[in-house]
Amino acid sequence: MQHVILQGPDFAQWRAQARRLLESQTPPDQVIWSNGDVLFESPPEPASDPNRIPVATVPPAFLAMAQRVAFHRDLEKWPLLYRALWRLTHGEPHLLQVMIDDDVAQLAAMDKAVSRDVHKMHAFVRFRKLQDGATGDDHYVAWHRPDHPIVRHVAGFFRERFGVQRWTILTPDESVSWDRQSLTFGPGVPHRLAPQPDEVEGMWKTYYASIFNPARVKVRAMKKEMPVRHWATLPEAELIDDLLRQAPSRVEEMVRKAKATNAAREQASLLPGMTERAGTKRAATASTAAADSAACANTGTAKPFIPQTLKLPVLAKAAQACKGCDLYCNATQAVFGEGPAEAQIVMVGEQPGDSEDIQGRPFVGPAGQLLDDVMERVGLPRDLVYVTNAVKHFKFEPRGKRRIHAKPSAREVAACRPWLEAELGLIKPKMLVCLGATAAQSLLGRDFRITQSRGQVMKSPWADWTVATLHPSALLRIPDPDLRARNMADFERDLRSVAEQLKRLQRA
Ligand code: SF4
Repeated sequence: MQHVILQGPDFAQWRAQARRLLESQTPPDQVIWSNGDVLFESPPEPASDPNRIPVATVPPAFLAMAQRVAFHRDLEKWPLLYRALWRLTHGEPHLLQVMIDDDVAQLAAMDKAVSRDVHKMHAFVRFRKLQDGATGDDHYVAWHRPDHPIVRHVAGFFRERFGVQRWTILTPDESVSWDRQSLTFGPGVPHRLAPQPDEVEGMWKTYYASIFNPARVKVRAMKKEMPVRHWATLPEAELIDDLLRQAPSRVEEMVRKAKATNAAREQASLLPGMTERAGTKRAATASTAAADSAACANTGTAKPFIPQTLKLPVLAKAAQACKGCDLYCNATQAVFGEGPAEAQIVMVGEQPGDSEDIQGRPFVGPAGQLLDDVMERVGLPRDLVYVTNAVKHFKFEPRGKRRIHAKPSAREVAACRPWLEAELGLIKPKMLVCLGATAAQSLLGRDFRITQSRGQVMKSPWADWTVATLHPSALLRIPDPDLRARNMADFERDLRSVAEQLKRLQRA
């Protein structure tokens, strides 16, 4: 009987020992495989011998699977792998195709378990930002509890994805650090030593809460996709109980709003001013009927829907009936601008998001939260600002249960522009802030480039003091923390200059 001792989930060690055993024609039932904490010693691997009998080759699929199975926690993997190797090289070259074979089935189950664990680790590692005491550099640290000791398996993935950051991933089995040049592996770390929450988590939680759609939640599927054992390290998991508890009332509220919106649409379509602008009342009614019977008929511009009475509340109500482009078809409601009619500052974003579409108000989702936070930091009171969007209906692509933001086309932006012009014409702001490229191009021309002209103060037909900066939702979507921090600083600097200009105006 031969004793073979392996240290850790090391495929290379197993392969070296398996080759040696095969060369000496040692059958699987003559080998005891152990991990490193037993009393026996493995026989040393013989020095390379040029006359060694070459080991028979095995299918590449077996090697690939063996490399993954080597990361399984169950030490049964070693004898199982050697038994499969023995059989593959002793008259059963097609063994892996016999899925009902016990050894093959067991290997496939281990392979699947490791692959699933790797996938979850890719998805559920949440870094927290710390500062290196010696250098002051940012250091991102995460604690994660995989089912299997897969740290060395996933390290390359994180190095590729976050190569420009310094990071460390701690697990109970092993830790790995990346210093922008090399990976270093260390011992495991218990959860109680994991780093504390940082400010990035607040933003992430706000975003998660906003994309959590109570009408589409399926608790079992959610727990399967986001296993409960990972909740301890997922900041968003803290929200789940509350979000689930609030789900029934939020669904009721959504239904109530949808009904109210439909009623408002029907009522607004009968406004005299609108029917006159669209032609005769009969023509408008006929066109409405045609639009309803067609999948999504639109007039190509919002102009016919602009009421004669130019007041913000009247505009807001009339926008609910707009069919200037196809976006009215799938959105819940038009989201009109909000703020004081005599505001000195107007901020224009791109379009409402998922939360705005449900609540019917601009900038109430995660982007709005970020905007609020920055405005507060720079001393720009939101209640002095009128906020609106270049496009009034939410454009999205359904992805599973989620509605993912989709950029409005130039045609949709142009179709919606009469609403924005009407708002600006009524408010006559002293300062105009375009948030993002869509708003800037809608008002300042298609050639305007945020990357070139961000933060530059200019005069426009809408306000003597006009500036374009980044859109807060674009900031939230930047995955690279360093890049996000740099853009965040630019955004804050731009809003600070708006706040300073406002103070100058108020002093004048
Ligand atoms: S996006 Fe604008 S133009 Fe298109 S339907 Fe909505 S309000 Fe009308």
